[in-house]
Amino acid sequence: MLQLFIPLGFLGIVYRQIKYALADMDLVFKLLERRPEIQDAPDTKALRLRDGEIRFEHVDFHYQHERAILQDVDFRIAPGQTLAVVGHSGAGKSTLARLLFRFYDVTAGRILIDGQDLREVTQESLRAAIGIVPQDTVLFNDTIYYNLAYGRPEATRAEVERCAEMAHIRTFIESLPDGWDTMVGERGLKLSGGEKQRVAIARAILKQPRILVFDEATSSLDSHTEQAIQQTLAEVAENHTTLVIAHRLSTVVDADLILVLEQGRIREQGTHRALLEAGGHYAAMWDLQQREGPDAPVPVAATDTR
Ligand code: ATP
Repeated sequence: MLQLFIPLGFLGIVYRQIKYALADMDLVFKLLERRPEIQDAPDTKALRLRDGEIRFEHVDFHYQHERAILQDVDFRIAPGQTLAVVGHSGAGKSTLARLLFRFYDVTAGRILIDGQDLREVTQESLRAAIGIVPQDTVLFNDTIYYNLAYGRPEATRAEVERCAEMAHIRTFIESLPDGWDTMVGERGLKLSGGEKQRVAIARAILKQPRILVFDEATSSLDSHTEQAIQQTLAEVAENHTTLVIAHRLSTVVDADLILVLEQGRIREQGTHRALLEAGGHYAAMWDLQQREGPDAPVPVAATDTR
């Protein structure tokens, strides 16, 4: 009997690994939509991560030749600081995150992490350094435990629980009748937008990355949940270099630096206070959102010259 159990146990491990691998590909394809051919050069080395400083140096980028998406984008995120990017839909905000993850290569300029050009380090080491909280969290048809542990499958139960606690979702999970074994996803319990974001935050911090990217969900949450999520993000961001792709200005108030992106160019930059005092585009956007609520459309530039 024992002899039968050993191979079955082994098969169980293999099954689990295949499942993780498939889940991973599923998520990657979802994130990429269409995967471009970015290859490591033969002599690339692993990223030597130190403090997690990010630099975009005069970055130009286009997906298709005839249409520039980013032009001369130049900024630095100091280690441990938070940079938020705002701007109208299509301004190029999420593209910055895709370039940082090296889903695409820049057309001109360069992106550096701790002084190393992304094109000169292995993609595996780069992606291990960055945790992403995406706009739409993919939930697998599996237990809530599996869905969280997915951030780092080899993590211990205690680590998973601690990250759930940091993301303020542990109490919710443990209040469910089946607790951590609750099935979620299309065929299980449907999580609310806020709960899904917390799962994504827990996954991202479980990965223990030096750098965090929050691509804020475009769909609005009720204001109580939104504030609670923002509080969680602020706590989690404290020990990481953080890039926030923001769709609501309320998210960015405490950022160390805010970039206002318009038609792929940095139009203004500064802290919330400095940008309000400057009385420019950001101040106008802020006024509008104060008057009409967080879902007020961000004013779009008169003509799109791209
Ligand atoms: P939103 O606030 O709506 O999420 P965004 O500022 O994040 O917008 P991006 O997603 O960075 O904007 O897109 C910038 C521009 O690049 C858009 O005009 C978009 O249509 C275009 N774009 C995005 N992805 C691709 C792609 N894979 N191929 C071609 N064009 C793309």
